[in-house]
Amino acid sequence: MAPDGEPTSGADAAALASLQIAGLVPLSTVDWPGMLVATAFLQGCPWQCVYCHNPDLMASRTPGTVAWDEVAALLRRRRGLLDGLVLTGGEPTRQLGALAAARWAREEGFAVGLHTAGAYPARLAALLPHVDWVGLDVKATAARYDTVAGARHAGERATASLALVLRAAAERGTGYEVRTTVAPGMASDTLVLARDLRAAGVRTYALQQARAEGTLSLADAHPPGWDAEFAALAEEVRGLGFETLHVR
Ligand code: SF4
Repeated sequence: MAPDGEPTSGADAAALASLQIAGLVPLSTVDWPGMLVATAFLQGCPWQCVYCHNPDLMASRTPGTVAWDEVAALLRRRRGLLDGLVLTGGEPTRQLGALAAARWAREEGFAVGLHTAGAYPARLAALLPHVDWVGLDVKATAARYDTVAGARHAGERATASLALVLRAAAERGTGYEVRTTVAPGMASDTLVLARDLRAAGVRTYALQQARAEGTLSLADAHPPGWDAEFAALAEEVRGLGFETLHVR
């Protein structure tokens, strides 16, 4: 670690100063299962999922409202109380400063968690050696991916990112959770996807029932019968044999 915990290089300092951070949660017990963390919300995402709960974070040109120095000061103040820092978004891998933030947190003795939809596989590959745990969204089968994410080539990028995370888990023991948000009309696709993920070697999986609150374009997340359909999907996925399955 550099003296006084300062960034170890001028390049990292510039990258940290450039971070667009839209919010900072000083204590979270849910963003990284089993860990007490601070969570930084990084502005900007290239995708437009219908069920996105953070639509205000999509715009890439919106400036941040939290300076990196605030994040660093919080972590230092709570050293010994917090286990780590989670970078979420938006899509945190969009910002080059995410790598500097992960390195800084590690050098300060904090574990680093990352939430990503895998929109930037090359940047994810650079980040993964500096990350201890990844929550990776995998949204749909290849046939439906770009529709669900609202962006071309989203499926290819997510597939590449999944391979990177599984390789990091196998080679470096990086922790991970693959998760799928399921909106009405997506149950049958999600079951096919879950089978594919299990076959690909995913061990920890989470099914998340979409909620309309806070979204821009998911008008009705609870049509008649949807809760029962989601419960039936969860039962079928339970039978696929994931080592850990979370249903939320
Ligand atoms: S990838 Fe995540 S942050 Fe981006 S639009 Fe989809 S749900 Fe929202």
